[in-house]
Amino acid sequence: MLNKKRILVTGGAGFLGSHLCDRLITNGHEVICVDNFFTGEKNNIAHLLDFNNFDLLRHDITFPLYLEVDEIYNLACPASPVHYQTDPVQTTKTIVHGAINMLGLARRTKAKILQASTSEVYGDPEVHPQTENYRGYVNPIGPRACYDEGKRCAETLFFDYYRQYKMDIRVCRIFNTYGPKMLPNDGRVVSNFIVQALKNEPITIYGEGTQTRSFCFVDDLIEGAIKLMELPQTLQTPLNLGNPIEVSIRQLAELVIEITGSSSKLVKKPLPVDDPLQRCPDISRAKKILNWEPKIALKDGLYKTINYFKDIVGP
Ligand code: NAD
Ligand code: UDP
Ligand code: UDP
Repeated sequence: MLNKKRILVTGGAGFLGSHLCDRLITNGHEVICVDNFFTGEKNNIAHLLDFNNFDLLRHDITFPLYLEVDEIYNLACPASPVHYQTDPVQTTKTIVHGAINMLGLARRTKAKILQASTSEVYGDPEVHPQTENYRGYVNPIGPRACYDEGKRCAETLFFDYYRQYKMDIRVCRIFNTYGPKMLPNDGRVVSNFIVQALKNEPITIYGEGTQTRSFCFVDDLIEGAIKLMELPQTLQTPLNLGNPIEVSIRQLAELVIEITGSSSKLVKKPLPVDDPLQRCPDISRAKKILNWEPKIALKDGLYKTINYFKDIVGP
């Protein structure tokens, strides 16, 4: 194949990573998936193990890694607040030491490297929708800080490696993304609501459910990330990737009930500390630079995700 590359995907057994591995293998590349299985599962990539162009390596990216690669997608990091808060020190180490190791690897091999950053760098935003030049409103000592400040520090490292060593970096700020292959116990809102609805159990709304998020279906997000990696030139600023259609958490619950036909009722639980009140990406730059925007409507994406969970969640 023309332009066949050897591509490292860290966190490749996780939700986004496994979809990315699928897409890269389909595109004919050689893929090395690295994961320590903290929140990822072998099942997510089991179907790829027989491919000659796919390798799986159990490894924790807080430790150095020596491989020869052309591109690195650095996704390794638990993304659900429940999981990143169970061992916050390890979360910061994964994000910061992991970034240093992957940047060191990219520097030595002259590989292009993409960082999966996050809308959490904007914290509980005072600017709405969030544009890339908004610097964020983050609590540096709260329970989300291990993730938010870790990801902010990783962005600093990426841009310092770029300035200091002229490396080819790409940084995307990913907004809430959902889809098949999220774990039933992932703890994020879409998988929680779907699993609860399919079991006809109470749907747990944290706070009043008036807080908003903007949900992107995984296929759209992966397409954006690959387009960003394939951009011929380094992008000297981070880029928002997400779906700009904003919904409240209560609306999301109602939509999941409607599509599943569930008899679940809504129950209120306390709002987690520092839970952002509203979040929505401004994706004008991604539209312009990548000629990309999400295509899959929330209802259609939820439908596909619900079908996936129907097969793995018992009645
Ligand atoms: P996920 O938890 O499903 O996947 C993360 C993967 O990283 C898992 O397979 C996990 O085992 C692995 N991992 C964790 N620590 C590791 C370590 N030290 N060494 C090696 N592997 C390790 O999460 P996801 O939703 O697939 O998110 C992937 C990336 O995208 C993360 O960096 C996350 O911060 C970012 N992101 C995701 C979203 C989203 O909505 N899905 C939003 C913003 C940013
Ligand atoms: N590193 C790695 N794989 C490599 C090259 C480097 O894991 O192929 C790690 C190594 O642990 C190093 C870190 O990346 O500490 C940063 O590398 P860099 O070259 O930036 O700095 P160094 O610390 O080697 O001066
Ligand atoms: N949430 C909820 N019920 C749940 C899980 C989450 O109401 O069972 C809310 C959570 O408080 C937040 C939003 O849904 O306001 C998104 O939470 P998630 O953990 O998916 O991601 P976040 O965007 O907060 O990182």
